[in-house]
Amino acid sequence: MSARITGRTRLAGIIGWPVEQSLSPVMHNAAYQAVKFDCVYVPLPVADETDLIRVVGAIRVLPFVGFNVTMPYKQVMLDLCDEVAMLAQMAGAVNTVHCVDGRLIGYNTDGRGLVDALAAEIGFNPAGTTVALVGSGGAAGSALVSLVLGKANRVILVNRTRENAEALADRIRPHARETAIDVVVLDEGADETIRSADLVINATPLGMRVGDPSPVPAEWLRSDQIVADMIYRPEPTPLVAVARSAGATAVDGLGMLVAQGVTAMEIWCGESCGPASRDVMRRAAEEALAARVERGEGA
Ligand code: NAP
Repeated sequence: MSARITGRTRLAGIIGWPVEQSLSPVMHNAAYQAVKFDCVYVPLPVADETDLIRVVGAIRVLPFVGFNVTMPYKQVMLDLCDEVAMLAQMAGAVNTVHCVDGRLIGYNTDGRGLVDALAAEIGFNPAGTTVALVGSGGAAGSALVSLVLGKANRVILVNRTRENAEALADRIRPHARETAIDVVVLDEGADETIRSADLVINATPLGMRVGDPSPVPAEWLRSDQIVADMIYRPEPTPLVAVARSAGATAVDGLGMLVAQGVTAMEIWCGESCGPASRDVMRRAAEEALAARVERGEGA
């Protein structure tokens, strides 16, 4: 890797805490080599918001082409950008930043990544469908915006904390002429909501930690449903495992991760770089996950 770094090499990276487990560095660096983009992508662990402000200030004066933002800074990054794309404003979170002449332009590519992955992996189109979206944080906000743009008929936010779901619904409703947005509290009649949906999405971290239950039990699912988990480890995730046991079609979040990486490539490197990166990114992510399992680290 170091042999190809020159005096002109640009920088990209991922800001978050923690970031050691992020697959983005292996995915992006593999894609940069494949499309001959003279850039290196590095992990940028940032412990708190004071450091975040310092790091973002440094990025403005360094040759960064852009950077990704992950938990816990996607919301606070909104206020640190000079310009924020409408979609990211609606989602209430920024996960991708483009650096242009010292200015920071914020985007949110998570929701588009989810919708693109569902289309590519199982041919799903949200138009006219009913969706149960579990969670109401940044990733759920981005997914909700993309489902509205994709003309879903109805999206029901199923969340642990009613107020957070209501706040998200209130923010998006004025932009959602063709999509009804409702709120249900997880555990309060959520079983009927989940059962009624064509697509069930998990946008919570539930399932990532050892011993986590599935956010939705198998009894709430139907065999003719599509179930999408935003998380992708362990393999299978608890939700994917229960969905398959109920006979539903289930996909995990790896395709979404790759698709949002492809969109970042389009923003930073030009549109033609995106499609050319997809397979390379997917292969690099799968190889990294397999290597972790082989080393006994889990995925
Ligand atoms: P976030 O902003 O922190 O939101 C988390 C949401 O999950 C909130 O609605 C929260 O509910 C809910 N939640 C948290 N713990 C819960 C629990 N134990 N039981 C029930 N609900 C719980 O996080 P985010 O950025 O939206 O990310 C959500 C997940 O999506 C993360 O696991 C992230 O890794 C994943 N993700 C994946 C991709 C991908 O490319 N595959 C992209 C983005 C995000 P309250 O409102 O009640 O707090």
